Amino acid sequence: MKKSLNVAVCGATGAVGREMLKTLAERRFPCASITALASARSAGTRVPFGDDEITVKELTKDSFKGIDLAIFSAGGSVSTEFAPHAVASGCVVVDNSSAWRMDERCPLVVPEVNPDDLEKHNGIIANPNCSTIQMLVALKPLHDAAVIKRIVVTTMQAVSGTGKKGIDELETQVRRLFNMQDIEPKAYPHQIAFNCLPHIDVFQENEYTKEEMKMVNETHKMLDPNIRVTATCVRVPVFFGHSESVNIETEKKLTAAQARVILSQAPGIQVLDNPRANLYPLAVNAAGEDDVFVGRIREDESCENALNLWIVADNVRKGAALNAVQIAEELMKRDLVSVANPGMFL
Ligand code: NAP
Repeated sequence: MKKSLNVAVCGATGAVGREMLKTLAERRFPCASITALASARSAGTRVPFGDDEITVKELTKDSFKGIDLAIFSAGGSVSTEFAPHAVASGCVVVDNSSAWRMDERCPLVVPEVNPDDLEKHNGIIANPNCSTIQMLVALKPLHDAAVIKRIVVTTMQAVSGTGKKGIDELETQVRRLFNMQDIEPKAYPHQIAFNCLPHIDVFQENEYTKEEMKMVNETHKMLDPNIRVTATCVRVPVFFGHSESVNIETEKKLTAAQARVILSQAPGIQVLDNPRANLYPLAVNAAGEDDVFVGRIREDESCENALNLWIVADNVRKGAALNAVQIAEELMKRDLVSVANPGMFL
């Protein structure tokens, strides 16, 4: 069993990649070495790692010689092209993009939800979509207790979900509008400052967006294929932290009080639910935190066995970097940092 790993972070200059390096250092992940990879544009620049800085190298097919674990957050096309070469070098990949999530060879894992799926990995483990991660951390214990039949979710997603360019766009638009200057939307089809866009990722033939269908398909793959799911995903002018209004219908009756007890005992969750004291989860407070926050837990008066919940988490942290590092920790704990068939994805 390996006690420490040679680790590479691909996309190390991005919003998720930087958080990944921060999370690895904060959690003292046992790195024998750490390599920061990005495009040729950033080669030679430096990124923080703990109290140090490391020099970024260009990602190439040969980047993975001697690397045990590569965490990818450089977009779907980069993962599609380079993850197979990493696996061919004997390196285990944890991928943050959507490239491999629905591939049957690749487990899709949230450690609080389906850690045992790691046992059947073939070299690439997919990290789910940020909105799905926080929703399923909160819904898994309720599903275990009462069997969820249907989920209706509306998300309010921060601009950091679009990476550096989303953060820059909101900041630029707010500054320009306050200075009475024109704005030119680039990262989004419309103005995002002081606005809400019911449009995340591309529209599909069924009129849902790809982001909305990720929540449906990933819930089926990780939690239960029998749950009916419908989602509306909205981009809002918040820098960090996704908020979700979630309605669940269950087979067994679950009171709000029972749900509060179940959630407060579950891993990775903090219940913040005292509306009379104005206490409920907020994106600004979730930013930088590890946990998924749940509040506004109440019985749906329009339906016999149903609950409403308000679920908030830091999309870049639990929604991406932290979940990936937790997967890596679980792989180490289970002695699963090895590749049986290096040629599988080539
Ligand atoms: P980002 O801020 O735009 O960063 C993109 C990173 O990818 C940068 O380091 C960039 O390097 C690198 N990159 C781009 N093209 C490359 C290439 N051809 N070769 C090597 N590196 C390349 O984006 P992000 O928000 O961090 O997201 C990265 C991935 O994580 C995406 O797949 C996204 O869907 C996923 N994700 C993001 C979130 C979130 O909340 N942001 C949550 C879950 C999953 P340069 O600086 O050199 O361009």
